Amino acid sequence: MLKVGFIGWRGMVGSVLMERMNAEKDFNGYEALFFTTSNVGGRGPDVGLEIPPLKDAHDLSLLSAMDILVTCQGGDYTTKVYPELRKKGWKGYWLDSASTLRLEKDSIIVLDPVNRHVIDEGLKSGMKTYVGGNCTVSLMLMALSGLYSRGLVEWISSMTYQAASGAGANQMRELISQTAVLGLSAKPLLENPASTALEIDALITRELRKPSFPQEFFGAPLAASLFPWIDRLMESGQTREEWKGHVESNKILGAKTPIPVDGICVRVGAMRCHSQGLTIKLNKDVPLGDLTEIIGNGNPWVKVVPNDKESTLKHLTPAAVSGTLTVPVGRIRKMIMGPTYLAGFTCGDQLLWGAAEPIRRILNIVIEHLS
Ligand code: NAP
Repeated sequence: MLKVGFIGWRGMVGSVLMERMNAEKDFNGYEALFFTTSNVGGRGPDVGLEIPPLKDAHDLSLLSAMDILVTCQGGDYTTKVYPELRKKGWKGYWLDSASTLRLEKDSIIVLDPVNRHVIDEGLKSGMKTYVGGNCTVSLMLMALSGLYSRGLVEWISSMTYQAASGAGANQMRELISQTAVLGLSAKPLLENPASTALEIDALITRELRKPSFPQEFFGAPLAASLFPWIDRLMESGQTREEWKGHVESNKILGAKTPIPVDGICVRVGAMRCHSQGLTIKLNKDVPLGDLTEIIGNGNPWVKVVPNDKESTLKHLTPAAVSGTLTVPVGRIRKMIMGPTYLAGFTCGDQLLWGAAEPIRRILNIVIEHLS
């Protein structure tokens, strides 16, 4: 029986992965072993099976006894353990949510509804390392897979509105702490019908600028604000998050001729859904109705939202999409720049398609390949 080891199962991405695997009844047909970096001998997750106590995630002998390792533990763990395991001669499959190995030449970035052909070729040629992509990139490709697969995209500019969850669990908590501070300070004015919006605004601005305003993890107020900066500066003047848009999308697609992707990545006060405003340069003029149909048929999860206010507010917001696998695309229209310029807006749960779901699916694909 195949042996599958799980590391990082209790973190944010790992917990969503466990939830999805439980929901899909994925824990069968193999022996599952759960590892920890902090609680050896403790209890593993509830996966509906008898499982042994937690094993040491740095025990290389035990790790190398696994056919498949699935890790959501993070980049530091991958940087330390992966090379040691490979050096030891371990030939198993390494499935990882961290970015560390994404751009290695012997790894594949997985997003099977979009690049199953790349994955299948990798499996056939003996590739053993499969890594989940950047959440924003994966969500954009899920939204636009129809256009990409028809070869219609000349370039894309994506302006993002990224949720707190992409920065981590502490940042999600901090966003709500910030919101709570603002809500509490404004309460007396809100309860007074004679107070004006400008008075409330002045109070909120004062609160946001106080040194005591909670910002230990973000380093700035996000609630009632935003910041157009995610990750570190690259030589190009892009942030690393922006840089990934081009590099990762082209690697995922296995593109022979790279398709430019660029834009500004912005952190906003959403909890776990990333949104993106898209300018898509098409390489030919295609009627809007056909484009809408092509986008809608891209994969089973993408859903076109009609370009009207009611549908947009009902289906194309983080509040509507959070916790679901649906990837809505709306605001689709030709732009005034010309008939080959298409506008669109998309929104997706960055912990599901942006992180855990591609890992869940590659595990099943690898198991199927080995069976
Ligand atoms: P995380 O929540 O920080 O969890 C990572 C590990 O931290 C856990 O497996 C756990 O390891 C340990 N940990 C310590 N205190 C914990 C606590 N109170 N609750 C839960 N776990 C705790 O990391 P993550 O956000 O899931 O990210 C994992 C990897 O996925 C990273 O490489 C990240 O870059 C990547 N990724 C993240 C996202 C995202 O949106 N967050 C999206 C795509 C990819 P032990 O059980 O061994 O102690």
